[in-house]
Amino acid sequence: MELPQLHFTGQVWRPPYEASSQLLQVTSGCTWHRCKFCSLYHGTSFRMSPLSEVEKDLQVIRAWQPRARRVYLTGANPFALSYDKLMDIALLLRKYLPGMVSFGMFARVTDIAPKSVEQLKALRHLKLDSINIGMETAHDPTLERMNKGYHASDIVEQLSKLDEAGIRYNVVYLNGLGGKGTGTASATITANVLNQLHPCIVNVVSLTIFPESQLYQELKDGIYEEEPEVERLIELRTMLNNLTIKTNILAHHVSNPIPITGALPHDKAAIIQRLDKAIAALPEEELKAYRNKVEHL
Ligand code: SF4
Repeated sequence: MELPQLHFTGQVWRPPYEASSQLLQVTSGCTWHRCKFCSLYHGTSFRMSPLSEVEKDLQVIRAWQPRARRVYLTGANPFALSYDKLMDIALLLRKYLPGMVSFGMFARVTDIAPKSVEQLKALRHLKLDSINIGMETAHDPTLERMNKGYHASDIVEQLSKLDEAGIRYNVVYLNGLGGKGTGTASATITANVLNQLHPCIVNVVSLTIFPESQLYQELKDGIYEEEPEVERLIELRTMLNNLTIKTNILAHHVSNPIPITGALPHDKAAIIQRLDKAIAALPEEELKAYRNKVEHL
């Protein structure tokens, strides 16, 4: 008997905390594809899955995972889909998986802009309870240099709409992104921005430059200078030290030489102490040797 297959195109990526979610492709690739540091979804053009394809996949999921409680929509930024399309998908989820408790997906900051708070609330009502956002930093010169396509003011404006609509969000902080000498500024500004918001998780990834990225070429051409590893630890320390909100820190991704997890403000002192120890004890060369062994995200 031939087993039914779900549609998946190119690279499929989900956050580690979505490991037990049922994956469902609604888009492939990224609508933006211009961030200089990005090596993800390489060679995959953006594509929106036709609703008929989504419905076929849901029929398979209903047959094999009828009790799926959480669904994660795949693609770099499915939240780029229009409100109407997302509502259609949410209604299909409800039709095929009536026991589903929630669904989530990746979004760019700019994907939130065309949606009103009322529309976000309607999506929340249909069980969209969280989205993951590759914010990277709130340091405008770095956002511009890396072609992120938005500024710190957009982060505050758009994520505040999610707060108002009751949709949880997790953000990625890309430690070291601005390059040598920018760590403290990036950390301080980002903490100030996040202190105006309510991210559930701040997911820290330390920049690792891969050959598929535009930044790799800039590095080779001597246009971009990587932030030293010790400076990155100081950057992370500065960001965490300046955060005054309640949030969860996940800095245990393979790209972080010092794995850290904790809840702020409860674990702040212990995390700072751990970072201080590492900053004092670990030589740059040792940390750099770790970085050179990171093969992929
Ligand atoms: S970082 Fe995200 S938004 Fe930027 S090009 Fe990569 S997948 Fe697209």
